[in-house]
Amino acid sequence: MDEQESGCVMELVDDEHNVYQCSRCRELWQFEADGPEENSWQFCPACGRGIRR
Ligand SMILES: [Zn+2]
Repeated sequence: MDEQESGCVMELVDDEHNVYQCSRCRELWQFEADGPEENSWQFCPACGRGIRR
C-alpha cells in the first residue's frame, strides 16, 4: 500500500531518443513525442504504480 501511494517517477534517460525509465521497476519506455506527462500517462504499464508529476 505504501508503493501505491508513493508511486513512481518517469526519468528521462535518453534525451536523443526520448527514452524514459520507471524509477521503481526500471522498465524503459520510448515516446514518439514528448514524455509521459504529455502523452497522458497516469500509471506505469509495467508495475502499475501512479506516475508522480
Ligand atoms: Zn514501473
